[in-house]
Parts: sequence; C-alpha cells; structure tokens
Amino acid sequence: FLDRIRRTEPHLKSFLYVSPDDAILKQADELDNKIKNNEQLGPLAGVLVGIKDNICTSDMPSTAGSRILENYRPPFDATAVRKLKDSGAIVVGKTNLDEFGMGSTTEGSAYQVTANPWDLSRVPGGSSGGSAAAVSARQCVVSLGSDTGGSVRQPAAFCGVVGLKPTYGRVSRYGLVAYASSLDVIGCFGSSVADAGILLHTISGYDKFDSTSSKREVPDFTSQFAGKDYLESKPLKGLRVGVIRETFGDGVDPEVISSVRGAVTHLEELGCFVSEVSLPSFSLGLPAYYVLASSESSSNLSRYDGIRYGNQVLGDELNSLYSHSRAQGFGSEVKMRILMGTYALSAGYYDAFYKRAQQVRTIIRDSFRAALEKNDILISPASPSVAYKIGEKKDDPLAMYAGDKMTVNVNLAGLPALVLPCGFVEGGSTVLPVGFQMIGAAFDEERLLKVGHIFE
Ligand code: GLN
Repeated sequence: FLDRIRRTEPHLKSFLYVSPDDAILKQADELDNKIKNNEQLGPLAGVLVGIKDNICTSDMPSTAGSRILENYRPPFDATAVRKLKDSGAIVVGKTNLDEFGMGSTTEGSAYQVTANPWDLSRVPGGSSGGSAAAVSARQCVVSLGSDTGGSVRQPAAFCGVVGLKPTYGRVSRYGLVAYASSLDVIGCFGSSVADAGILLHTISGYDKFDSTSSKREVPDFTSQFAGKDYLESKPLKGLRVGVIRETFGDGVDPEVISSVRGAVTHLEELGCFVSEVSLPSFSLGLPAYYVLASSESSSNLSRYDGIRYGNQVLGDELNSLYSHSRAQGFGSEVKMRILMGTYALSAGYYDAFYKRAQQVRTIIRDSFRAALEKNDILISPASPSVAYKIGEKKDDPLAMYAGDKMTVNVNLAGLPALVLPCGFVEGGSTVLPVGFQMIGAAFDEERLLKVGHIFE
C-alpha cells in the first residue's frame, strides 16, 4: 500500500497528509508481535484506513480542507477513529475534501484538487472525494467520509466504489467537524459491501459524547458476509423494492438511467418484487436542503474566530482580528454559504426561509416513511450524471447544487442509504462508473447490506 501511495499520489492527490512509513510499519510490527504471542487481534487488525480530514485525529493534522485550520492538531480522536484504532486498524492518512464538506467535487479544498482514478481529468465527486479516490485506487482498504447531503454516496458513485451513509444517530459525530449538525453523519467507503459493512459495524453505537447518537442496539452487520452459499434459496424473494419515479426524469443522463434500470432488473431476477413509487415532494428537497444546511453552517462556523482554533490574523482591535482571520481563513464557497445562511436566519426572513424549509423537511420525512411502509427499500440513481471534468461546474454553483438532488432528501429524512456500482458509461477513451442508491428505513442498515451483498 505504501508503495502504491507513493506511485499514485502525485497524480491523484487524495491525501492531505500521509502518515510516515516508520509510524505505519511500527504499528504493523506490533500486530506481528501480538500474533507471535498468540494474543487476540481486533477485527480490523492491520487494515489500512483513510480518514476524511474533517474527522479529528490526535496524532495528525485535521484541517477540514480549510486554511483557517491549517496546522491544527486536535488534542483527541473522534469516537469513530478511536473505535477503529481499538479494533486494530492503522490510520494511513487524512483525505482531501471540499472545505468543511461544502461542495460536490473536492475542488473546493483550500489545498489541492483530487483527481478521479478512472480518468485523471475528471473530479472524484465530493465532498469526500479524497476518501473515495483513495479506496478506488487501492491506496487504502477502506475509508471514512462524512455525508451531510450526499458527500459519501456521490463520490462513491463517481469513483466506482461502495458508499454507505448510516442512519442519523447510528455513528457518533463526536470529533466530526460540524457542517450542518442535524444532517451530518460519518459514513463508510469500501471496495465491497462487506468491507463497508464491517467498517460500519466497528464505528457504530451510542456515545455519551454525542447526545444525538442512538442507544439502539447495533446488530452484527458482519454475520451475513460469510458466503453466498444460501443464494440457492433466493433470500431476496418477495423483498419489496420501490423505484422512485421522480428520480428518473429530466436532467438525469439517459446512460445513468439505463444502468440503474439494469440494476433493478437484476434485483427482479434475484426474486425481488419491484414496483414504482411516487414521492411528489422529492424535488423540494434540494431548495430545503440548501436553506437548512447553509443556516446551520453559518451558526456552526461562527466558532472560527481566530481565537479558539486555527489561524489568527491580527487587527487593530478585536473585531478586526475576527474579520481578518475569517476573511483570510475561509474560501469563497464557505463565505457564500455563511452569507446565505445568515440571511435565511435573519429577523424578518426567518419565517419565509428557515421555518418554511423545516416544514418541507417534515413533509419529505413523512413521505419517505409512508413509502418505506409499503416497500422494504427504495431505489434511485446516486447522481444524475457520471463524473464530469475538473473545472466544468466550478463557476456555476447552481449547476453544482443541482447534482445533489438524488442524495439530499435522504439526509433530510435521516435515513440510511447504500450506493453500489451498477454499470459503466463509455465515452471516447474513458470508461466511467455509474452508481445506484438503495434507501432503507431508519436503522435498517442490516437489510441494505444484505441486499447489497447479494446484488454484487
Ligand atoms: N454537496 C452538498 C453540499 O455542498 C453535500 C455536501 C456533504 O454531504 N457534505 O452541501
């Protein structure tokens, strides 16, 4: 892995920080010694994990892709990271992202642009583009990302890997740099459903440091990955699969549609009962998401004042210290979100924007709940397009935001979703992966993983 990172990293730029070889090899030696001494090894012993750089690690920098946190080293590990280390995993480094998770291409990082391993002239998706590219290029085995509006699922689709967004509350957010707290979750990347499921199992569970983490029992997601000998018995027979009509319409690439339809046919062959469902409120998700995510971020990002964390730029007095630190520390997309969010929350506009968006959120959540009473899982494309060229949408934020329409509803409803590769689009000299999304009922990750494992 270290050799592959050395050879591929100059082209990909997936990592903002790679742990020194000797630090990694020392951990590997410690595991070897444990084996020699017949000591018990954790379930992820020796597995190299990449961590999105908005997830805190005590022994490495954590910048969230922002200049304002340049050289910041948190004094603690995020709960998810601590659980990984406890299970024997080796953190190989910190992966690139759009600043604070705000973006869909990883071009919004203050440090570097990550390339898509399938075609270096294209984006890997975002905001967890570094984590997706690193797994896709086998620079590490699995990785953690975060998903506020699709940041695990869309890059998984663009890079042809498996991406898993857990139910809100399944995984502790302690140590995840907050973007929009009511939507943020830590998610998993792997090159197979089993890998993503084992990773989820390791990081899930209640944490007293995150009051929104759930006390629900974590089932053993890993038990079903032993083998597929039981396939003969058609384990998916009768599973009710609802295909969301509104996600196959205008603005979705025809080649994406045909690949996802192919995946649906495959599920039918596996014995699923497929029908179409309509979610008339689906298209309201995008505007509601951008009002809510910007509003929450404007509040969350007020903590970067040049005093408590990160970079400080002095001024003549306190207010100019704040404004200089923020003006120089934040990039343009982040500033735009703070402005939009502050506007939406301001007196006089609150009812028209924030409150309205919350009402829409309730409608969306209820419509998913109703659809998931009649269906076991729901299906949509993961993104309206395959990976596009670096620079193509950089100056057109609305076009970029529109690319999130398949994923944001799932965050508004707090549901789990699994993205899997389901085909390819060929064009000229490139072949690009297509991903589809399976959405489950709250805390029903087990079913998503089972279906995904049998599907692949
Ligand atoms: N692209 C979306 C945004 O910019 C989602 C990002 C995310 O999930 N972190 O807000």
